[in-house]
Amino acid sequence: MKNPDANSAWAKDRDHVLHPYTDFTTFKEEGSQVIEGAKGMYVTDTEGRRLLDGIAGLWCVNVGHGRREMADAISEQVLKMQYYNPFGHSSNVPAAELGYWLASHAPGNLNHVYYTTGGSTANDAAIRLVHYYFTMKGQHRKKKIISRNDAYHGATYVAAELTGIQATKNSFDKVGEHFINHVSAANMYAKPDDMSEDAYCDFLVAEFENRIQQLGPDNCAAFIAEPIMGAGGVLVAPKGYHRRMWEVCKRHDMLYIADEVVTAFGRLGEWFASEALFDYQPDILVSAKGVTSGYIPLGITMISDEIYEVISRPQCEGGVFSMGLTYFGHPVACTAALKNIEIIENEGLLQNARDVGAHFQQTAQALKELPIVGDVRGYGLMMAVDLVADKATKASFPVTTGMGGKVFKKCVESGVIVRPVGDRIVLSPPIIINKEECDTIVSTLESAIGNECG
Ligand code: PMP
Repeated sequence: MKNPDANSAWAKDRDHVLHPYTDFTTFKEEGSQVIEGAKGMYVTDTEGRRLLDGIAGLWCVNVGHGRREMADAISEQVLKMQYYNPFGHSSNVPAAELGYWLASHAPGNLNHVYYTTGGSTANDAAIRLVHYYFTMKGQHRKKKIISRNDAYHGATYVAAELTGIQATKNSFDKVGEHFINHVSAANMYAKPDDMSEDAYCDFLVAEFENRIQQLGPDNCAAFIAEPIMGAGGVLVAPKGYHRRMWEVCKRHDMLYIADEVVTAFGRLGEWFASEALFDYQPDILVSAKGVTSGYIPLGITMISDEIYEVISRPQCEGGVFSMGLTYFGHPVACTAALKNIEIIENEGLLQNARDVGAHFQQTAQALKELPIVGDVRGYGLMMAVDLVADKATKASFPVTTGMGGKVFKKCVESGVIVRPVGDRIVLSPPIIINKEECDTIVSTLESAIGNECG
């Protein structure tokens, strides 16, 4: 990947771009793989390699790369009206149209949308709305948020505190400790082998209930969870888990926030996963990524009629709902979302994600035969493959082995991009993928992992 020419994009990037989630010690030497082209299921890098995109950019390019219809819709909107102030009583047509579509398709009575710039800002907005809601109701103590270990909710200050992945915390200061708590992740792979799925679910629900009792139900405002935990390891919860956690929330007058940044807009074969797949109706639903397939940044925070009714009451001290971003309801981003939704609808991509996703999950099970594969799990077009030093004990490789990185490099050499998160390989291809392309991803991974088995 190295290109010593100081004028190359590679060198400029290495010397000046502060990359997210990066080990700078190796980055200063190795730099980046610079991607310069993208079409359909493929991307090309500056070295001229054409690579099958097994991760949809970063869980987001659902309708595939470089689509003419998206480019046309975006450029038409730019020429018509690219931006105007969204505050107060000012709006734009795409923001209104998208709001209407979202309200008609989101679960339950999530009929109101607050627009942001991505998943982190949408989660931050969700927490501010929760606090605002309980303040408006006069429940001034009800402010604590319960999240989960290994959850990923973003990188802005509050979203980062909601996040439960320890590796993201290291030297950063903590600002949310007094109001953000974490309970266990619903991790079926980590559960003791002699514990049944039902018993594990009971354990998780009891832990949640106990935590609420410890903190005091009058202090607990909301629970936040991804329907399937993404970056934390594509963790599919035990049967009935979400519904039962939601019931606990209802019993204690707590709001349930579904973080559907990854799971909405087709990745699991549904517009939204929470109600369709897991049988609960969140009070707040957050999404981003697939809403525009990553063509333009956009985040959404949807709230229920009940919350809207409270936050739209006249304030006792006067004043107005005082929160908003310059790019709230950005007309170009909302246009991209509307066109993206149209493509998903017209091309039957939800059904494709269901059919091809089932095939993907089934074929990938073969990877379990490899001596260093501890687990293969997922749902639809979301998958994780855990690489372990010992299958029986599930023991990890020493960090210095860098097994995930090695497998990633081998896959790229063979023309497929996968995503290593430590020694876990995460997959989330565009939802336009077909069965043959799934097979290519699985067989490439199989040889790359096989190569490390010695
Ligand atoms: N929530 C979840 C579940 C995510 O996966 C992510 C991003 N991977 C975020 C929130 C944060 O989104 P963004 O990076 O757009 O801020």
